[in-house]
Amino acid sequence: MTALKACWCGNPQQLPFCEDYSLCSACGTLVSQAGLTAEQISVQNDSEDFYGKEYWFSHQTEHYGFPDIRQRARQDLPERCLHWLQTLLKYKLPPAKVLELGSAHGGFVALARWSGFDAVGLELSPWVVEFARQSFDIPMLLGSVETQQIPQNSLDAIVLYDVLEHLPDPLATLNYCISLLKEDGIFVVQMPDYPEEKSHAELVAEQHPFLQMLTAIEHLYLFTRHSAQFLFEKLGFNVIQFESPFFATDMFLVASRQPLTVHATEAIDEHLLQCPSGRLIRALLDGKELQMQLQTRLQAVEADRGEAFVIAQRFGSDIQILNQEVQKRQAQLDESQTQLYDTQRKLAEEQNHHQQTQSHLATTQARLSAAQTAIDQLQQNLQYTQAQLLQTQKELQHQHTRFQRVRDRVQKQKAKIAALRLELSIHQSEIAAIKTSKFWKLRSVWFQFKKRLGLPTD
Ligand SMILES: [Zn+2]
Repeated sequence: MTALKACWCGNPQQLPFCEDYSLCSACGTLVSQAGLTAEQISVQNDSEDFYGKEYWFSHQTEHYGFPDIRQRARQDLPERCLHWLQTLLKYKLPPAKVLELGSAHGGFVALARWSGFDAVGLELSPWVVEFARQSFDIPMLLGSVETQQIPQNSLDAIVLYDVLEHLPDPLATLNYCISLLKEDGIFVVQMPDYPEEKSHAELVAEQHPFLQMLTAIEHLYLFTRHSAQFLFEKLGFNVIQFESPFFATDMFLVASRQPLTVHATEAIDEHLLQCPSGRLIRALLDGKELQMQLQTRLQAVEADRGEAFVIAQRFGSDIQILNQEVQKRQAQLDESQTQLYDTQRKLAEEQNHHQQTQSHLATTQARLSAAQTAIDQLQQNLQYTQAQLLQTQKELQHQHTRFQRVRDRVQKQKAKIAALRLELSIHQSEIAAIKTSKFWKLRSVWFQFKKRLGLPTD
């Protein structure tokens, strides 16, 4: 621990924080262990030194993703520079003497001067000093504040925007600045706001935007609100007023030895409207106020939109559930419809079958009726036939009787014939005997025979 760089407050006891920063156990400031030294901070060679020309070009664009200083000179004017000016006007009215340490492109100094302040900028790089002079036609000082010829007790305000965290010895520098301030002179300071007592792990877990401020090479001290207050109190500036910062990751404060005087808008306007450039500032402030109103309305609209979105999502969810219910009901309905069709089809089949059965029944009945008629007819026929049969039997018996009689007669005739045949045979024998005697004997016998038989005798 003793090998670590001590805090600005003089406390050598440092707690571990992250690779490049330690945490002051006394005041809670983060102390860079990898930062530039006082010598490295000064700019001797604009093309090589850290805060030389390239710091305002490639370093800003590549390291931070900011626009380069040319674009910033235009973009910052109605934004952060105006915000800073508005806060300065709240506590100091023109014509007050103002020095901006680390004034970069000089946009704020220009706005302050247009407002009526006697404002001067200061930068370390000759190139930036020249750039600011040419951009805004403002007085610029080159080099550290300690090397300037500024009269003691001459300044009403010293402003440091995004500068204090870069100072190797903030206590010493501010102490020197105090010597330049009038008794009622103030500091207006913007710098990163290290969230009180947050560990590095917690910041990482939250993906806290403050993590972007942990650039150890240039941000040598990162203050909490308490440690910033501690710093100014150490310098005898016990009146600290925290203002709304332009960026959420920053703190913005006004420090004074004496109670602060807050100027009303009317008093500020009275000063601004005294000259053409002041009117321009007033117009810019009007624009800023309008922008803030619009932002407030936009936030309200966004909130409404968010609420509407939640409601819409809920409706969407309800509709989805209803749709599912409708689909389920539709499926049930389809199934019922199918069952109904099936039942109707079966019913039709049954009806058809029933009709067929009825038809068959009718046919069968007709056949039965016809059969009954036929049976009746047959019975009649049978009765008739039986009657006929009886008649026939009677007749047959009668015929039989007659036949018997005829047969008897036939037998009698047969017997007669047999007798005749016998007689004939005798006569034939006699004829044969006659044939052997004389012809006349035979002839007389023949006539006798014929006469006996009744045959003609010729
Ligand atoms: Zn400390």
